[in-house]
Amino acid sequence: MTIPLNTEASVCSHVLDGSRPVLFVERRHSAWLLLCGPDYYIVGGLIKAVAIGHLLDRDPSLNQVIDLLDGHAAERTEITEPWVRRQVT
Ligand SMILES: [Zn+2]
Repeated sequence: MTIPLNTEASVCSHVLDGSRPVLFVERRHSAWLLLCGPDYYIVGGLIKAVAIGHLLDRDPSLNQVIDLLDGHAAERTEITEPWVRRQVT
């Protein structure tokens, strides 16, 4: 299952400006969250909305988690490491 490329995703300021790769992806209540790390909730900062197709163009490895089910998250420790999926509560 894939999603439309114009689907809106919320990203942190680092993902927005490309200074850090996406290492955390969450889909909850049909909303997408793509961050440079799971600790971002704690660190805080700007969250902006972008089209998910823009992020896929920049980082094709995100295609591996674009089939994420609602209520699930995927994490990786580095951009070169495999994604690890889990259910979020
Ligand atoms: Zn970030």
